[in-house]
Amino acid sequence: MLDINETSVDSQKMLKKIADTLYLHALTSNGTILFITLIFFFILSSYSNSSFHFIWSLVMTAAAVYRLFLCYQRKNTPVLRPDAQWINHYILGSMIVGCSWGSLFLLPYVNPDLTLFGVFLMVFFGVTASAIPVLSVSLVAFVVYTLPIVVCFIISLHTLNYAVDYYLSASVFVYFIMLVLLARNNNKQTIHSLALRLKNEALINQLRKEIIHREELIHSRTKELERSRQKILDSENRLQNVIVGAGLGYWDWNYQTGHQIVNSRWLDILGLSRGDIENNVTDWDIRIHPDDKQRMIDTIENAIKTNTPYVADFRMKHKDGYWVWIQGSGALIESDSVTHEPIRLCGTHQDISCRKNMEKELEFRAKHDHLTGLFNRVELEKYFQKELSRSERYGRSLSIFLIDIDHFKQINDTYGHPVGDRVLKKYANFLQETIRNTDFLSRYGGEEFVIILPETSLKEAEELAERLRIKTHNFNLDLGNRQFNITISLGIATYPDHGQECDTILERADQAMYQAKRKGRNRVHTWR
Ligand code: GH3
Ligand code: MG
Ligand code: MG
Repeated sequence: MLDINETSVDSQKMLKKIADTLYLHALTSNGTILFITLIFFFILSSYSNSSFHFIWSLVMTAAAVYRLFLCYQRKNTPVLRPDAQWINHYILGSMIVGCSWGSLFLLPYVNPDLTLFGVFLMVFFGVTASAIPVLSVSLVAFVVYTLPIVVCFIISLHTLNYAVDYYLSASVFVYFIMLVLLARNNNKQTIHSLALRLKNEALINQLRKEIIHREELIHSRTKELERSRQKILDSENRLQNVIVGAGLGYWDWNYQTGHQIVNSRWLDILGLSRGDIENNVTDWDIRIHPDDKQRMIDTIENAIKTNTPYVADFRMKHKDGYWVWIQGSGALIESDSVTHEPIRLCGTHQDISCRKNMEKELEFRAKHDHLTGLFNRVELEKYFQKELSRSERYGRSLSIFLIDIDHFKQINDTYGHPVGDRVLKKYANFLQETIRNTDFLSRYGGEEFVIILPETSLKEAEELAERLRIKTHNFNLDLGNRQFNITISLGIATYPDHGQECDTILERADQAMYQAKRKGRNRVHTWR
């Protein structure tokens, strides 16, 4: 019944399209029919027995109303019947209207004239031709509509005595065939364009679905990104808190541009404010201790080259001018994927001045006597060994003094231990100031001191010892409310004259000092 050649589209959808197209124009075409019927009612009243043309008008009106009713139904309750049935109903309606038009020509007219013939001609051509645009969408509808009109018209030509011959009938028939061919052609084009429209709609639907799918995808990706961004923010915050909590200065250096970002702790360590810095690597460059600079540059360059993090200590100048010890750590975190050029380095600064000072203090205590600040016995032994080796190597003499304060116990016993301590400190300072720059002074025991005199012969040592003894004797130990004068017993031993080993020379200097004691104190004695 339907001429659907487009196999690629859903035939159900196609039926719907055809039904829609048919019913789309039903209102205007049937409204027109009703209007024309009214006009014809009056025109025909002068040619026809009134009852016949009245019946014709009634049938015509009923057919048009039936189709209008169908149109109303379709519009309001399209699910009432399947599309194929809607089309069949429309075809039926078309057939009734077609038959009604055809019957117009066959009515028994009282006195048919040329005017009536002209009117018929107009109706015939007008009604058949105007059916093409709408009805050609269904060839069956077109044929059942036009065929009764054509047949009745040809019959009327012969029955109404219009002095027409068979050629006119044949021409009308040929005209009908042409109309059918035209309608068929139109039908093909309409169906084709409907099929195209369906395809387009399917495509648009597909695109719409795709768009919705993409939008959902974008939405979910955006949410995912938002979640990741939040996670990064959280971990950045945690890291920031850790950095702040650990009291770490932080720096982020663009190796290419020199631009450098630092946190407020970085500035605090050096007593700086934001206005004091240039936000450039020069902020570090101009403040690092000159003695540490090259070592740190080498460390950083090596870290870049080997792509390994570094940790190193260096000093930086505080705004108030003193040096702050910093433990710096850093790493290359971004480099060019093609050229492998470094792009970005990040790291931290930690103020380790306290630790460094403590280390220095411990180191000092390990080497020095805590009361007098002089070198202790351990350092003496190290130094003595070193100097003795040097003297041996260069064939030079080396002398040592072992000094013991005379009757020191009496000071303690008379004035108390703290006063004794102060005497020891004062005398230690005195010795430090008296000896030569090249001599090495150490506290050997309680009130005993050892002086190493490099490149000093026995003779020179004896002269120096005697001078020291006299100077000591004359030295007025001023303790504020008390004045002291002390004497010393000084033993001398010399390399290579009195021995080759440190222990031997020290022992002999000690023995010499005891000799001096035995001989009455306040004197110098050389080992013999
Ligand atoms: P001599 O002339 O024989 O050397 O007599 P002396 O009293 O100096 O010798 P002795 O060895 O009998 O006494 C040394 C004293 O030095 C005993 C000790 O209490 C005192 N002494 C040792 N170390 C310290 C110290 O660090 N502070 C004080 N105040 N006294 C010390
Ligand atoms: Mg002693
Ligand atoms: Mg003594």
